[in-house]
Amino acid sequence: MKILKFGGRSLANGKGLDTVLNIVEQKISQGEDITLVVSARGNTTDDLLEILEKAALGESYIPFLENFKEYQRAYSLDFPQEFALLEKLFEGVSLLGDYSNKIKDQILAQGEIISAKLITHLLENRKIRSVFVDSRELLISDDHFGNAQVKENISEQRTQNFFSRLPKGTVAVITGFIASTEKGETTTLGRNGSNYSAALFANFLNAEELQNFTHVNGIYTANPDWVAEAEIIRHLSYQEANELANFGATILHAKTIIPLIAKNIPLRILNTFNANDAGTLIHSQVSEEGIRSLSVLEGNALIILEGRGLLGKVGVDARIFKALAHRNISVSIISQGSSERGIGFLVSNQDAELAKTALEEEFESDFYTKDVSEVSIVKNVGVISIVGQDMATFHKPYNALIRNQVIPLLINNAVTGNNVSVVVHNHQLQKALNVIHGEIFSISKRVNLVIFGRGTVGGTLIKQLFEAKDDILTRKNISLRIVAVANSNKVLLNPKGVTENEYESFEKLSTPYTLEDLITFTKKHHLENLIAVDATASKTFIENYIQLIENGFDLVSANKIANTVSYGFYKKLRKVLKNNQKQYLYETNVGAGLPLIDTIKLLHLSGENITRIKGIFSGTLSYLFNNFSDSDVPFSEVLRTAIDNGYTEPDPREDLCGNDVGRKLLILARELDLENEFEQISVQNLIPKHLQEGTVEDFLARLNEFDDEYRKIKEQQAPNHVLRYIGDLHGDLKSTETSKLDVKLVSVPKDSALGQVKGADSIFEIYTESYGNNPIVIQGAGAGAAVTARGIFGDILRLIERGS
Ligand code: ASP
Ligand code: MG
Repeated sequence: MKILKFGGRSLANGKGLDTVLNIVEQKISQGEDITLVVSARGNTTDDLLEILEKAALGESYIPFLENFKEYQRAYSLDFPQEFALLEKLFEGVSLLGDYSNKIKDQILAQGEIISAKLITHLLENRKIRSVFVDSRELLISDDHFGNAQVKENISEQRTQNFFSRLPKGTVAVITGFIASTEKGETTTLGRNGSNYSAALFANFLNAEELQNFTHVNGIYTANPDWVAEAEIIRHLSYQEANELANFGATILHAKTIIPLIAKNIPLRILNTFNANDAGTLIHSQVSEEGIRSLSVLEGNALIILEGRGLLGKVGVDARIFKALAHRNISVSIISQGSSERGIGFLVSNQDAELAKTALEEEFESDFYTKDVSEVSIVKNVGVISIVGQDMATFHKPYNALIRNQVIPLLINNAVTGNNVSVVVHNHQLQKALNVIHGEIFSISKRVNLVIFGRGTVGGTLIKQLFEAKDDILTRKNISLRIVAVANSNKVLLNPKGVTENEYESFEKLSTPYTLEDLITFTKKHHLENLIAVDATASKTFIENYIQLIENGFDLVSANKIANTVSYGFYKKLRKVLKNNQKQYLYETNVGAGLPLIDTIKLLHLSGENITRIKGIFSGTLSYLFNNFSDSDVPFSEVLRTAIDNGYTEPDPREDLCGNDVGRKLLILARELDLENEFEQISVQNLIPKHLQEGTVEDFLARLNEFDDEYRKIKEQQAPNHVLRYIGDLHGDLKSTETSKLDVKLVSVPKDSALGQVKGADSIFEIYTESYGNNPIVIQGAGAGAAVTARGIFGDILRLIERGS
């Protein structure tokens, strides 16, 4: 025989109840031998509790009671007896202004009785022979009203007795949740207790299986309402299920598993609304790899008792728990430092004040002697329990939490079993859950990108991200989402990731914003693993960097400003990064996508002594001088072609003045811990003096005024030499004072490394002590939107990999 237990939500009016009846009918027609255990329907138990509270407070409860009746009568069956009893009880409570747990149990029991009676009636309507069974006749309990303990021997006897007399082929529809004392008083078995009832009946009747029909597909790695990536767990051992139940998996009542273990009865968690799904099977087999799941308990308060005088004192803990037990306050997680300076533990939010008072009373004299300094409450905390987590690998989820600015208030690992519980503020609970889940299941790790700037580089990056997204998900298990795209005044947001279609309608869908708005948005949606990308050309955007870092963002930037303003800011930024354990990558600052900065960083970090860095840093100027040197045309003509092809800035003087090369050189110098300022760089300006001021139009009209000077320079070269505009970091690089930063036009042999550069390529020669006269050479396309965007993309991936 199989026991089928149906929960409240499955039995709600309409779709739920209809589906349940169909399931039962189908099983019967297939010749299955089944017994039903049912909960109260829909929200019945909560509704009864609410009416009870109203009655006790002397509020008008009658309309609510009428609603309640109407709901129960929806299938044209009346319940005069139960309704009359409820009316009488509520009236009494209303008159007294109070109620006992005994009265409460009597009231709540009606929900299950009505439910079982209705289902019996509806099955009969479908010509299924069935009988209503009031479990108070079968389950005998103690008189701990509200959470009664079933007396198993006598209950087993009664149950077996009853069933031995039950005609074959009759379906018993048993009330869950309720029992009675030996004196015949009604008791209940605790919230969600129908699961426990069902397990007991399965045990007493030697059922072959207990099927628990719920409104979810089974037990998940985490609550799927909270964690989109949660996956169903197909098999669980009793042991594992029990741990989950203890840690708040509400579909498992904490006591459910025990009666099943005794007789080795499998428990299947099924979804009424998706009955074809195999659900989760809980049985005696232990899976090899062990199961891991996250469960959550909300609504707790953390109580902290502090005092330096507690050190070495005997009996402090005993006094704490005695004082709490005295007030009937249950304590869940406890943590005490070995220094015994304080102890922290969790109680329910409702018990928090009472717990504080209890401790203040108990330790009154210790306050006087200053042995105890404070009892404080941190309300609204939640517990995430990682069931199946051993301490040896806990650093991974822990680090991920810290990276995401979730600082656990308390951590506790169970002495037996592999469980770690982490207490966090309620408002961080969902984010924390997702972070831990992503980390330990590596189903996919969500990374949330905020992209500032949608010019050529930003736009290209977004396009590349859309294209590569799926591939990165399958290959790297990383789900990259662009949750915000912003230009200087408007932003397009989507917490699930901006879609390509949305992005195409940026103008229409975007709204004005401030940085605060954006940060609030990320907090509201509990977005983890945040990366801000600065793809702007803005001189002022760096003012936002620090705020972004402090609000949990890692940074990737193609913008050189942050690294080239004062050394003071440079240092400060790095300090804030360190304090917040955040990263800042900017590989594209120099040589676009070429792996230059990373290489220099690694060399420097590994202790390799870099003695000189020299090269062609600007793609634009590389193009100009490569072509000018190779051909017989005036300088202005080459310049004109460069302008027409879009190789230069809108005002070409920004390239020709050399400052951009200067900035790149400065960034490399600072990588070597040199503290130079921009002003210390000697930069040769390529623009003739008289053209340096004035409008762009005017400048563009007078390009041929470059020609004389550059013809002379070209002619004065030694044979087989070519012109190159280079950045050169040299001198003694051990200190800022002795280092030299030069940006200048030079003439080099045609067959040298610099002389051989073609097109608009960049080249960087890194000289180090071990490599001697043979520098490490990094060469390639050092400019352009596509390679720069690709470089930013690389930084994003690098950042994610380093983070984990
Ligand atoms: N009806 C009770 C409750 O809601 C028992 C149950 O559903 O298992 O707690
Ligand atoms: Mg229920």
